[in-house]
Amino acid sequence: MAESRTPPEVDRVAASRRAVAARRERAALKKDVSMRVITPQELLRRALAEPASPAGAMRVTEFLTSIPAIGEGKRDRILKDLEISPVKRLGGLGSRQRTQLRRFLDGRWPEIEPRGGRSRLVVLAGPTAVGKGTVAAHIKEHHPEIHLSVSATTRAPRPGEVDGEHYFFVDDAEFDRMVEAGELLEHATVHNAYRYGTPRAPIERVLADGRTALLEIDLQGARQVRTADPSATLVFLLPPSWDELVHRLVGRGTEGAEERTRRLRTAKTELASQGEFDYRVVNDDVVRAADEVARLAR
Ligand code: 5GP
Repeated sequence: MAESRTPPEVDRVAASRRAVAARRERAALKKDVSMRVITPQELLRRALAEPASPAGAMRVTEFLTSIPAIGEGKRDRILKDLEISPVKRLGGLGSRQRTQLRRFLDGRWPEIEPRGGRSRLVVLAGPTAVGKGTVAAHIKEHHPEIHLSVSATTRAPRPGEVDGEHYFFVDDAEFDRMVEAGELLEHATVHNAYRYGTPRAPIERVLADGRTALLEIDLQGARQVRTADPSATLVFLLPPSWDELVHRLVGRGTEGAEERTRRLRTAKTELASQGEFDYRVVNDDVVRAADEVARLAR
């Protein structure tokens, strides 16, 4: 009997399953870039590190249109300028094309270089629902050498929260007084609702003792700390993917549908600021992420 050139049925089924899975992974990566969970540079780094991965197999055309603000017209002009053929896959770019593409991305979406020296003032920020509080609580419990700042807030305590331990719960008048007296290192209104701020004196004491202070605060606060002390180390906590962030926000079940939509919109804007941070840590596992933050804070 003549040998058949068609692969056996099982192989074909397996191959088509793999193709479907690879397409799904590429779609997830594109979504992460479009929702700004990962920067275009990060996706390019992954593609070049592993050309056979879903990132590496992505066409340069799909890559570019996944970037916010790049439509098909702009994409074609960019490819022409960079002299990259539209059929190219990221993993198959030549070395000159890689450099050109990287330079183009860096020019449009700057990522700052991590500061050289270590600062003992460390800020942990990140989008809503990413799990900053859980990571910070883990550090507090397992890395007692790191002082976790206790913020002042105008919101009411939740069940189980202890004044002076989780927050200093103050009223508006007291918060105003602290701001006016310059007692806060930074302060902000979070989620358009309550005010939060970092008391300055405990941080100064910790730093004077040569110890490390960790601030788990929102993005506006992180920017104020950077202005007050440009040498501070800024760490941005990232979700493993956009879908996971949505899942965590919905899973928490503490917000209504409208509030959830608002927070997701906020999260997307917050994610867009990750380039301002010295380090990015992915919260794929609380213990692992907490250890990584603690290492950066040592
Ligand atoms: P929650 O009310 O759920 O404890 O915190 C809400 C948000 O307030 C979190 O995103 C947290 O990072 C932020 N936050 C807590 N303390 C401070 C602070 O001292 N300053 C600023 N800017 N944000 C804070």
